[in-house]
Amino acid sequence: MTAPTYRITALAGDGIGPEIMQVGRAVLDAVAKQSGFDIQWQEGLIGGIAYEQTGDPLPAETLKMAQNSDAIYLAAVGDFKYDTLPRNKRPEQALLGLRAGLGLFANLRPVKILPQLVNSSSLKPEVIEGIDLMVVRELTGGIYFGQPKGIFTDASGSRRGVNTMVYSEAEVDRIAHVAFDLARKRRRKLCSVDKANVLEVSQLWRERVTAIAAAYPEVELSHMYVDNAAMQLVRWPKQFDVILTGNLFGDILSDEAAMLTGSIGMLPSASLGSTGPGVYEPVHGSAPDIAGQDKANPIAQVLSGAMMLRYSLNQPEAATRIEQAVETVLAQGYRTGDIYSEGMTLVGCQQMGEKILAALSV
Ligand code: NAD
Repeated sequence: MTAPTYRITALAGDGIGPEIMQVGRAVLDAVAKQSGFDIQWQEGLIGGIAYEQTGDPLPAETLKMAQNSDAIYLAAVGDFKYDTLPRNKRPEQALLGLRAGLGLFANLRPVKILPQLVNSSSLKPEVIEGIDLMVVRELTGGIYFGQPKGIFTDASGSRRGVNTMVYSEAEVDRIAHVAFDLARKRRRKLCSVDKANVLEVSQLWRERVTAIAAAYPEVELSHMYVDNAAMQLVRWPKQFDVILTGNLFGDILSDEAAMLTGSIGMLPSASLGSTGPGVYEPVHGSAPDIAGQDKANPIAQVLSGAMMLRYSLNQPEAATRIEQAVETVLAQGYRTGDIYSEGMTLVGCQQMGEKILAALSV
């Protein structure tokens, strides 16, 4: 049998992007070799660098390349120097364009506390020890996209800012199926988060999620209002397995959940559609304050590669191998600056990559 070959689009982007991408790719190449498959990389431009070189933060060529690949491995985009550009030229617009162009409606953010890092969090060890949850956020609907939207001036000259929170049944159904499917493969608990006591859009959300639960009798479904969920995440986060929520609530709750771990430099994510390639990227941004200084933590990028192997390439063993290598290196005491604590060995981005590669080859 010939070894499977996967065509992966690598989008390094801006700031620390190229540094962490280099580490991420080296780790994926190493694990591919060990596991008997090949990765054919194709490199595309995205973000500020794409704007500088082509005048467009998401060149048509990049989107086409992404659409014709098995998965997209993305680092980060953005720099504060682009903040004065017109909105459609800003690096972050490329992310929205990529999501729209690939139909990515589901954003998956696993939050797992590694035992080696319980002391990096601002919360007490007994609260966070053993956290292993997944936030599933709807990504292409809700208040960020609903119409009407805009700033309108009425006849008296007074202005009103308007956004519309809207979800169709079909939009709720497809994201609910993603979350139930995931819950089925995990600890079989799903908590749907909404604001059904106040919002009609949430009432429909709750109704549809409850209806869909009938197809997943093995999954225990609960519902929680978003204000309570924000509180429960810091009070007793271990109660959660999969959290399902809409675009706005998910944006806020997933960042809150991320901070349970102590560093944004540790957290991977996946964005998936119904068919076609998914995008795998760290939760953090381009960290311009430390770019080019070999200070970035590449672990979120590396773990995003593991998610890509698991969810898009069906190589779960290779994914586990990467996750175990990361745990080994942390157990050996190596830390980048963002997760450093006394008594540990401080390393840079490149050296962290070398340590992970060494742990992989044991
Ligand atoms: P950021 O996530 O880039 O950085 C926040 C803080 O965390 C900074 O102090 C940074 O040094 C630190 N940090 C982030 N990643 C790290 C890593 N891997 N290792 C060590 N430290 C790390 O967020 P920001 O500063 O608000 O935004 C910077 C730029 O990134 C902006 O242009 C923003 O629009 C963009 N951004 C991009 C994405 C993305 O590409 N998905 C996401 C968020 C922000």
